[in-house]
Amino acid sequence: MDNKAEILGCHIDIIDSRQALEKISEIILGRECGQVITLNAEIAFQAQKDEKLRSLINGADLVTPDGIGVIWGGRQLGYDFPERVTGIDLMVSLCRKAANMGWKVFLFGAAPGVAEAAAQTLAKQFPGLMVAGCRHGYFNDDESVGIAREIAALQPDILFVALGAPKQEYWIRDQREVLKVPLCMGVGGSFDVIAGVKSRAPGWAIRLNLEWLYRLLAEPSRWKRQLALPRYVLAIIKAKWRK
Ligand code: UDP
Repeated sequence: MDNKAEILGCHIDIIDSRQALEKISEIILGRECGQVITLNAEIAFQAQKDEKLRSLINGADLVTPDGIGVIWGGRQLGYDFPERVTGIDLMVSLCRKAANMGWKVFLFGAAPGVAEAAAQTLAKQFPGLMVAGCRHGYFNDDESVGIAREIAALQPDILFVALGAPKQEYWIRDQREVLKVPLCMGVGGSFDVIAGVKSRAPGWAIRLNLEWLYRLLAEPSRWKRQLALPRYVLAIIKAKWRK
């Protein structure tokens, strides 16, 4: 049985990056049309109050601990996550594996031109990587099915969706039947970072678990979203106390 933690009603796999990549490979080889979610504290907190979001998360095939908030929350509640398994790291290691295995990737999301630039960077980094296609992420709701059909026609093995969380997760779930892609994964702002449009926190900030603070300083407009963090801490303390 899979080893999972339960944090504010969300089931999260207790898994390291290597195991996550193995599980993803199994899903791709099994042609299962799987969905991967890399979960952070903001979304876990949102899900506590939102039944629809919670069942979306709990219906995914793999949910990894993306942020330090989830790792910390897990520890408080008696779960020992080995490490953060972030969307961007998983995407890059999955592209490395895709190049070796001959799996085709599709990049959907971010501003016009960004997915193409990210795909070029990845193809340079991993020679042999097959890019089935790219599409920007600005569209009306009534275009969704058409976009999913266009992606399906190109038959990628892996679809990376960068629309921000949880929009990308809902989009994947809603279009899964049309897409019929073996593996779909939401990756937030990863295309921007890979394309060099935005920079990721420096290594020392990541090691000190301060990536969230770096993002807040680099993009002050995120402060509203990050207001959820102190409330998340309180919710975890309450959950610990109840336990
Ligand atoms: N985005 C998009 N379509 C939208 C809204 C957002 O393609 O309708 C893109 C946006 O350009 C950015 C990414 O989604 O590349 C969201 O990045 P963010 O870092 O905010 O992701 P999160 O932290 O929500 O996972």
